[in-house]
Parts: sequence; C-alpha cells; structure tokens
Amino acid sequence: MTKEREISLLERVVSLCKRRGFVYQGSEIYGGLAGTWDYGPMGVRLKNTITKLWWKTFVDDRSDMYGIDAAILMNANVWKAVGHVEGFTDPLIECTKCKHRFRADHIRERAEKKMCPTCGGALGDPRQFNMMFETNVGAVRDSSSIAYLRPETAQGIFVNFKNIVDSFHPKLPFGIAQIGKAFRNEITPRDFLFRTREFEQMEIEYFVKENEWEQYFELWRKHVRDWTKSIGLAAKNVHELEVETGDRAHYSKRTIDFEYSFPFGRKELYGLAYRTDFDVRSHAAASSVDLNYQDLDTGERFMPHVIEPSFGLDRTILAVLLESYAEDELGSETRVYLKLPAHLAPVSVAVFPLLKNKPDLVKKARAVFDSLRKQDFAAAFDDNGNIGKRYRRQDEIGTPLCVTVDFTTLEDDTVTVRDRDSGKQERVKLDELTLYIEERIVPA
Ligand code: ATP
Repeated sequence: MTKEREISLLERVVSLCKRRGFVYQGSEIYGGLAGTWDYGPMGVRLKNTITKLWWKTFVDDRSDMYGIDAAILMNANVWKAVGHVEGFTDPLIECTKCKHRFRADHIRERAEKKMCPTCGGALGDPRQFNMMFETNVGAVRDSSSIAYLRPETAQGIFVNFKNIVDSFHPKLPFGIAQIGKAFRNEITPRDFLFRTREFEQMEIEYFVKENEWEQYFELWRKHVRDWTKSIGLAAKNVHELEVETGDRAHYSKRTIDFEYSFPFGRKELYGLAYRTDFDVRSHAAASSVDLNYQDLDTGERFMPHVIEPSFGLDRTILAVLLESYAEDELGSETRVYLKLPAHLAPVSVAVFPLLKNKPDLVKKARAVFDSLRKQDFAAAFDDNGNIGKRYRRQDEIGTPLCVTVDFTTLEDDTVTVRDRDSGKQERVKLDELTLYIEERIVPA
C-alpha cells in the first residue's frame, strides 16, 4: 500500500466513525478540544463489547484474578511515592519561530539538527514536561490541596493490594485487574484515538514470587497474543518489540511492546512489563504500611514481584476499526463495510420489513425484532429508505446479518437472512432463526 493510500485509510475510518455514530470530536460545536473524542451510540456498543470480553477473558473466566474499580482522584503522595511527580515527563521542544511544540523523542533527527519540522526555524532546547493533569481537591487552592488525575490505572491497583490480600487471602500467583480512565497532558495528541489526553486502560498487575517472574512473563506474553487474535487482529499486523534498557521505564526490568501496523506506522498497542517489586516497595516505604505478602504455607513474608500487561482500550478500538474497514464491489456498486468479527459488531442482527407502507409486514418485522431483543441479541429495526440503503447502513456499522420480512413470510413464516461479507441471502424458517444467528455470531 502506498503512503497516500494508507493515510487515506485513517481518514476514511475517521469519516465513517462520524457518519455512523462511532466517534465524534470532543466538544465539536465549540471547535473541539485537542486530544479528546466522544463515543457515539455505535462506538459505545463496540467499546462495551470489548471491555466485557476483556473482563470475561481475564477476570471472570479465571480463578486467580480480582477485579476492582478505584477512584480517578488519588492522594498526591501516591504519585510522589512512585516518582511520577518528578518523572512522569516527556521531552518537550519548541520552535523559536513558529512556536510549534513537539515531543523531542518523536522527531529525534530534527531535534538533533535543531530544525523545526514544520517551518524549518530553529528549535529551542528540550525540557522535561510533566504530563499529569493537576487539580485541587476541596475549597482551598494551595499546594496542600493538589491532586492529580491518574495518568495510569496501575497505581489504583497497587494501593489496593493490601485490601485484596486482607479480604480474600489469595495465594500467589494472583492478579488484580481494572478498567478505567487515565489522563495524560500529551504534548502532541494525534492520530485520532491513538494518542489522546483522556483515554481508557485495561490493566492487570499480576503478583508472583521473584524467582518465577520469567515463567509468568512468558505466559502473559502468550495471553496478550491470544487476546489480539480473539478481537480479530491479523497476526501479521501485531509485532513484539523488546524494549532496550535505555528506553524502558525506570521501574521495568523487561518490557515488550506489542505494536500494531497502524497506517501511520508500527506503533505501541499494548505493553507487557516486569515491574519487579518497585511499586509495592515504594508504597510500603512512603506510607509506612507493611505491604509484605505472607505465604500461608511457610509463614515467610516478602515483597511480591509484578508482571503488568497493559491494554489501551481506545487503541484497541482504533486497531479493530482499521483492521475491519473494507471496500468492495457488490451488485455493480462500490460499498464500504466493516468486516468486524461478528461477536464484536455493535449490532448483531438488523430486522427490516420489505416495505414501510405495508402494516402487515411492519407488524411482523416488529414481532421478529422484539423476539430477538428479548433473547438478548444486539438487534436493530430499520424501515427507513429502500432496502438497498438499509443494507449499506448496516454494512457500514459492520452488522453481520440482516433479516428481511417480506410477503412470503406472511405465508410460510420464513425470512431472508443476508450475510454482510458475501451479500448472499438465504431463506430461514422463523423457528430456526435463533440457532441460525447464534451459529454465526458466537465465536467458535
Ligand atoms: P506511548 O509510548 O505511545 O506514549 P506509553 O508507553 O507511554 O505509550 P504506557 O504508559 O505503557 O504507554 O500505557 C499503557 C497503554 O495505554 C499503552 O500501551 C496504550 O495502549 C495506552 N495509552 C498510553 N497513552 C495513551 C494515549 N495518550 N492515548 C491513548 N492510549 C494511550
């Protein structure tokens, strides 16, 4: 694919997202707010489906995982303890002429030459810019009331480590999982959902004995890979990058970045890090609370070590949309469709009456729709415009199956079911419809 073609793929996805209610620009009617995006009705459904699948895979289907939902606002000492107040920074560099700001590590060559990539003017010296959003808690605005919006969900997990141990007495290894918002005042938010200032993370801190970290690191490496498959990302688009010592976060002894082939380059989708006992040890020292883990069999007390798989939800959604975007010729017309894995589609099955102005057809179609909805299918009803237009709309949101109620239905209780990818239609008996749909939308 040429660069122009690839860049236009992102533009096409952005435009489809707006047109079909997946994602809108944040605060759009006021000209937007850089680095923020709002999910519309289809986007929320996709997002909820992905988080539900993640939670089922990594929490509910396992017996060694504990889910939490911690507060976004946390005591400022949390961030002091793990070095974020000092060090959660990115190198900022500014052009002395056009005043554009860049992340120095994103424009390494130009930064070395001190030449602005936008106007060719002289770049100033890089300085460290702290990315945490600061606010004040309570009525007094002074240094004692400073709080930060969390820049990662991980610390909400570490500060609850003792609570989970005290309530559930889990045996090592075990994990604590959380899905929630994180905030970073990114210097250059860009590439749609890829780099935003408010985003969602799905994170796990998996506590292990120090001498077992390598084995669990490998296991989680496989779990992350399997997850990318389960959401339909082609293996050829997912890459593992062993992060060099100098590029790793200060707390990490080993990191693998899972990168995805985005149209704007191969970039981090997820991270897998061995955080040692850095966080638990730092919080124990700063809070003076004993955070040692006691082995119930041997009575031994020690600091657990941690493997952290970290999944960005918004980057997941972007990768899934890019992977699914397709164009083809169907019935001599060009069409756009989302080849979403059926179990992720915001609408699993859409129901249409062939004609809007025939009450018998509408009534029957409504009954089919109501019955599917009662059975908990993500169903939609559409009688707007001609049938071709309805198919196009459903194709663009990735609906795998469209059911049409026509005159034959009124005679023999059969409907046509159209497959999104092939455009082919089959007649299916109404009393076999549930099974027919289930076989096609539930992953094998
Ligand atoms: P990058 O190098 O791209 O800035 P990071 O290494 O700082 O990312 P982590 O701190 O490892 O990212 O965060 C874990 C995950 O959270 C990332 O793999 C990514 O999926 C997601 N994430 C991080 N920053 C952003 C952001 N600004 N917008 C959207 N998702 C993000």
